[in-house]
Amino acid sequence: MPDGTSVLYIEDDIGSQRLVQRVLERHGYDVAIAGEGMEGIDLARQTQPQIILMDINLPGMNGREITTRLRSLPNFRQVPIIALTANTSPGHRERALAAGCDGYITKPINVVQFPQEVETFLQGHRERLEEQEKIQHLELHAQQLVSRLEDKIRELEEANEELRELDRMKSSFIVLVSHELRTPLTLLEGYAHLLEEHANTGNADDYPPGLLDLVNGLDTGVKRISQVISEIINVSRIASGRLEISVGPVRLASIVDEILDSHAETTEQRDLRVQVDDLSDLPLIQGDGGQLAIAIGNVLENAIKYTPDGGRIAISGRAVGDAVDLVISDTGIGIPHKEQRRIFDHFHILESIQHHSTSKSAYKGGGLGLGLAIARGIIDAHNGRIWVESKGRDTDTNPGSTFHLLLPVKQEEAPDLPLSV
Ligand code: ADP
Repeated sequence: MPDGTSVLYIEDDIGSQRLVQRVLERHGYDVAIAGEGMEGIDLARQTQPQIILMDINLPGMNGREITTRLRSLPNFRQVPIIALTANTSPGHRERALAAGCDGYITKPINVVQFPQEVETFLQGHRERLEEQEKIQHLELHAQQLVSRLEDKIRELEEANEELRELDRMKSSFIVLVSHELRTPLTLLEGYAHLLEEHANTGNADDYPPGLLDLVNGLDTGVKRISQVISEIINVSRIASGRLEISVGPVRLASIVDEILDSHAETTEQRDLRVQVDDLSDLPLIQGDGGQLAIAIGNVLENAIKYTPDGGRIAISGRAVGDAVDLVISDTGIGIPHKEQRRIFDHFHILESIQHHSTSKSAYKGGGLGLGLAIARGIIDAHNGRIWVESKGRDTDTNPGSTFHLLLPVKQEEAPDLPLSV
């Protein structure tokens, strides 16, 4: 029988693992070892062993729990599972059998008899309890399971609460640091402005050549840092449910025009053709114009960023029932199917950071992976929906991406705004 017969031994003690493995392998068995319960269940599924030897006192799930779990899987109803344990206290054997074990061998094993004992189980030997005894021990087993479940749930709840607290601390810290950075940045902005004024109005001979270019460079850098800080503050607010929305009538056509104007220089430089349908007939929607401009701006900035020079960006909109569907599509690099939901999570970026070019508007320019998380937070706060369709990512064929921003025309009175970033 043993010729290559597969055995799975679930045991955390290395000494026992080695001994059992050596003894059984010498008798022609093929022994796989798992050091704890979950690994044991996974390995059992993968290797479909002909017999399972089960230590009872294991970390995590104990041997009785693993046995009960295995018995619930169709392939393991008949496979012999034998408890192998040093615990000989009263009731221990009965509880192992009630949990689904077919036999009970005590450790330390007798190396001479052990292979024969294993063989008898393979040939069909089973240890059974009287029906009454079985019911009694099953009850005990069930009670222990429920009590362990309760302990685990309490542990998880505590761990969750700690994580939530850490998350709150992290968000407050981020907002605090961002505000601290804002102050010196405002100073820098002011000085850059003063320098620019001097350079423009003063006597050119008094200043080093090219000063104006340097000042412009400084100004661009300061603006970019300021933008990054705003993004961080915004995403922290959204994550902690502190995004404030002041609702008023919003004309999407004006928002789109303004955003496009602010990117006109880039789209021209990069030879991107922007095609905008007439949005003036779309119904006015109730929402926060400033926040919606950020959301739409982020999606549009990405369309610019992830479309190679010479590509096309199209913007259209239509009323769908009581909502407006704003559609922004590009002929860019596209988004892999499996990432199409996750790109809306914060800090989720697909590109390796080394490949990020420094400018935000350049092809595949740098970003924090916050733009779409912010957009989703804002759209969620308007009870809307944002999603993307794309055939996948390909930087050679550029399959493109199409983003939909579905916004209800009306907001509920005194809305209880759900936030889900
Ligand atoms: P980032 O600041 O990195 O642009 P976003 O949250 O705006 O972060 O976007 C997350 C990721 O989604 C980006 O890193 C990019 O890989 C992908 N992505 C977003 N928009 C597009 C698009 N129009 N085309 C291709 N990929 C996109």
